[in-house]
Amino acid sequence: MPTVKKDVPASTRERLARAARKRLHAAARKAMKNAYAPFSNFQVGAAILTADGKIFSGCNVENSSYGMTNCAERTAIFSAVAAGGPRLEILAVAVTNAQGVPCSPCGACRQVIYEFGPDAIVFYQGQDGDAESSITELLPEGFRLR
Ligand SMILES: [Zn+2]
Repeated sequence: MPTVKKDVPASTRERLARAARKRLHAAARKAMKNAYAPFSNFQVGAAILTADGKIFSGCNVENSSYGMTNCAERTAIFSAVAAGGPRLEILAVAVTNAQGVPCSPCGACRQVIYEFGPDAIVFYQGQDGDAESSITELLPEGFRLR
C-alpha cells in the first residue's frame, strides 16, 4: 500500500488497503491462468505491491525435473527485480489458487518475501477463508545478510 500520512482518517486508510488488496488479488488471479502446472494441476498466482506503487505478478512454473519448479510468489518477485532491481521493497503480497483451497506461501517463498519486504503483509486463503498475516508472523526468524 502506498505510504499514507498519519492524519488521514483510519477509514480512508482502510479503504485504500481494501482497494490495494483487491487490485493485488485481481493481478494474482490473472497470472494464475498462465500457470505451467501439467504435473500437479495446481495453478497458483501471486502478485506483489512495491513501495513505488507497482504491481508485479507471477504464476507457478513446474518442470519435468520436479525440484526445478518455481512458485508463483518467487516468479512475481524475480520479475520485479528483473524489471526494476536490484532495489525492491515489497509492501504486500497476494496469493491465490485455482482450487480455492488454503494455500499460504511455502517456506522458501517466505524467506524470499522477507528479503525484499520485512514489513510486508501477505494475503492468502487460510483454513477459514481469506487470511492476512505479516511476513514475520509467517516467518518469525527470517534473516537478511545485508
Ligand atoms: Zn513457494
